[in-house]
Amino acid sequence: MPNRIKEEIERLKKERGAIILAHSYQPGLIQDIADFVGDSLELSRIAASESAELVIFCGVKFMAETAKLLSPESTVVLAAPDADCSLAACMTGADLREMKKKYPGAEAVTYVNSTVDLKSETWACCTSANSVEVVEAAPSDEVIFGPDRNLGTWVATQTKKTLHIWPGGCHAHSGADIRHLREKKAEWPDAEVLVHPESPSVFLWEADKVLGTGGMIRHVENSKSMKFIIGTEEGMIYRLETLFPHKQFAAAGNIICDDMTLTTPELVLKALESRGDGIEIPSDLAEKAAAAVRRMTEIG
Ligand code: SF4
Repeated sequence: MPNRIKEEIERLKKERGAIILAHSYQPGLIQDIADFVGDSLELSRIAASESAELVIFCGVKFMAETAKLLSPESTVVLAAPDADCSLAACMTGADLREMKKKYPGAEAVTYVNSTVDLKSETWACCTSANSVEVVEAAPSDEVIFGPDRNLGTWVATQTKKTLHIWPGGCHAHSGADIRHLREKKAEWPDAEVLVHPESPSVFLWEADKVLGTGGMIRHVENSKSMKFIIGTEEGMIYRLETLFPHKQFAAAGNIICDDMTLTTPELVLKALESRGDGIEIPSDLAEKAAAAVRRMTEIG
């Protein structure tokens, strides 16, 4: 990245009381200029606690919306305005209302990778890190879970509750090819295999551990292993290499989220210069959606 852009980002950040948050799947260049890098849960908590005047979010739309829900006084700008999430688009609030009619005794738990509309209809959101704890905490024995089928199927194996799962999926994780993982395992037989629960079940069966991104970082930190095969979006490899330069990491498959790669340093600078279009949440949805997200941050 040209020094001029880096210096200008630093200058504007101070001048405008801004913080830059980046998801662990963001390109390495973006992770390097961020004040905080983390998973959805960590970044949501930071957005709520930092109370910055301006939050530049490097990720996709639902993440910036979640930050705005928890930090309504801040101006939250999504650095790459077109970055959206195919998983979040899979299920609407109307879809959930239909499921509630079908399963009237069931509370709804929604993965945070979802629209504000869906969040506003849900009892609590969850991340991959606390999905089991949130389902366990729901005040019903039956739980409607969406929008991710793979995550819901995995959670169902970790709880005695009955889950009614919406059949949505993330195009990047769902399209992962198990042959890549098997080839890498043959090449690195002594490596630990860590897989994200959004991945197809066949990846989970072949994993040593099923973990969200925050859990992967904590596991690598505490593990004696020196090699890891990582089954999630490939931006995570850079994050792990930065944190643990003495360990080796390889991608389990070709899991690449096109939307996560849209953020560039130039767009971050543009967002700081212009403040861009701050995220706006429709007032009739904001309070209910924020309550569901707050519950997520309080559990697990
Ligand atoms: S990796 Fe999948 S779930 Fe994550 S932002 Fe991209 S499309 Fe959405």
